[in-house]
Amino acid sequence: MAEPRREITAECLCIGDELLIGQTLNTNAAWMGEQLGLIGIRPVLTRVVGDHPDRILEALRTSTADVVLMTGGLGPTKDDITKHMLCTFFGTRLVRRPEVEARIVELFTRMGRAPGDVMEVNRAQADLPEDCTVVPNLRGTASGMWFERAGRVFVSMPGVPYEMTGMMVRDVLPMLRDRFEPPVIVHRTVLTTGLGESQLAERIAGWEDALAADGIKLAYLPSPGLVKLRLSAYANADGTAARAQVDRRVQALYGLIPELIYGEGEERLEQVIGRLLKAKGQTLTLAESCTGGFLSHLVTSIPGSSAYYIGGVVSYANAVKMEELGIPSDMLELNGAVSQPVVERMASGVREALKSDWAIATSGVAGPDGGTPDKPVGTVWLAVAGPDGVRSSKGVFMGTRDLIIQRSATAGLNMLRKRLLSG
Ligand code: AMP
Ligand code: MG
Repeated sequence: MAEPRREITAECLCIGDELLIGQTLNTNAAWMGEQLGLIGIRPVLTRVVGDHPDRILEALRTSTADVVLMTGGLGPTKDDITKHMLCTFFGTRLVRRPEVEARIVELFTRMGRAPGDVMEVNRAQADLPEDCTVVPNLRGTASGMWFERAGRVFVSMPGVPYEMTGMMVRDVLPMLRDRFEPPVIVHRTVLTTGLGESQLAERIAGWEDALAADGIKLAYLPSPGLVKLRLSAYANADGTAARAQVDRRVQALYGLIPELIYGEGEERLEQVIGRLLKAKGQTLTLAESCTGGFLSHLVTSIPGSSAYYIGGVVSYANAVKMEELGIPSDMLELNGAVSQPVVERMASGVREALKSDWAIATSGVAGPDGGTPDKPVGTVWLAVAGPDGVRSSKGVFMGTRDLIIQRSATAGLNMLRKRLLSG
């Protein structure tokens, strides 16, 4: 591979007291970080400061990245001071931009205000630093500002996510790409389930060690019940060579852990089983105890799920397990609801009652109470009933009630996926 060009770095500076006190979640930094990565600019730092002159100035003065993306503090009210601080930092002054003022007036008249009634505080949003390039805001009244100093770029944008993202997509990202010509970055994300992060790392250690030879970086991105493996490589020109190398490594990974990989990119497990069921022209029902309908929610969150999902029984109480799914009371008494025979009968019971090809059943202790020495919190029995019979397995999942429910659902979907593939 040719030597990649110098890496272009970026930092995000998010301004606003509401971000510091947890009133507003800093979604801007997350979104900007993702977008920068996609155009090959590396985010190296994110900072949040309040609407305070010294803090803003200090953050600007101590920034070192090639690109500094700022959001917030551009509103019409007195607490929004970002543009004044930009003037101080860049040694410039505010001047009114007639074309921006005309746009603001037009925006207000479109909302029914007479031009003469547009207030001075709103017109003053057209007062912008003399030596910046104005980045138009088609979704609001606060313009963006683009500054260049000593080979570095500073961009100030509104805090409102809808306005900031519009500006970034339309102008800022293309301008950054033109200005820096960042190296192409090639990504591929492989989705796995069935092994935790550290066990997975052990399984693929040899494969992982060999990635460095191709300049490929690997990131483990765990979430409840699954681990995403993201491979990325910087490349020159169109990225064809790097893409081929990444593809070759992914191919090898499929050979190494075929049973653990369920998809790629943004694909979800419930989407994968939907695809498999559709291809076979088969249907699904659910009998949910500990997941309480969460599995049904996941399945129905996929557009087009009506093609294969018939419905389910949330059999939370034993009475429902008996009456709707035909589980004998002595089976429940003898084994308890969280048990292999019960979960298997739940799966075959719902499959027969609602007449489907496949059924998933869940029964477990989601906690935080109700655990016993032989069935601690997190003990979950899962069963899949299908044309070739019923099979079950036990998981012991860690975490809070929510996490145990999510992990149970993921494990149930994955069991079905494996059965669909092997059948
Ligand atoms: P401002 O440009 O400071 O007037 O911000 C306007 C509004 O945008 C704030 O009240 C917040 O609700 C929202 N906002 C500001 N900064 C962020 C951020 N970093 N992430 C998400 N929302 C934000
Ligand atoms: Mg603000």
